[in-house]
Amino acid sequence: MVSQGKLPRAMADTDPDCIFCKIAAGELPGAVVDEDDHTIAFMDISPATRGHALVIPRRHSRNLLEIEPEDLTATMLAAQRLAARVTERLGADGVSLLNSCGRVAWQTVFHFHIHVIPRYDGDPLRLPWEPAPGDPDEIAAAAAALR
Ligand code: 5GP
Ligand code: ZN
Repeated sequence: MVSQGKLPRAMADTDPDCIFCKIAAGELPGAVVDEDDHTIAFMDISPATRGHALVIPRRHSRNLLEIEPEDLTATMLAAQRLAARVTERLGADGVSLLNSCGRVAWQTVFHFHIHVIPRYDGDPLRLPWEPAPGDPDEIAAAAAALR
């Protein structure tokens, strides 16, 4: 079997069924707010707050586990750039970055993306879990499995 990495660039870089590839290619509309050689950023169609945007690598990859390191670096740097801009231009009081990897983690579009979500004092967003002290033995067991 030919791995994706061995495919010619043009075949491996886009997925014909991917809406974000189509937005990056200009085949679907998108309110683009930032772009460079490796990334493009556009407004989320269902914003969590004012200015919510998505940053993606131009090259298709499904998720955090599959993205090439250089695309990940470029995408995170673009997210940082946009975080500064929403602060300066929209008056955001803070910024939440979100990446979901896998359906169970809420990923719904399978082209890697980082949500740049401007945060405002008093905005309605809430943590999706209730912070409470965990079982120390279980935390230690998980830590041991991760080392
Ligand atoms: P996920 O749930 O995968 O982390 O995020 C996917 C995001 O893409 C969602 O916030 C959703 O609103 C946004 N989205 C889905 N389809 C489109 C679209 O066609 N255009 C734009 N601009 N955003 C989209
Ligand atoms: Zn794609």
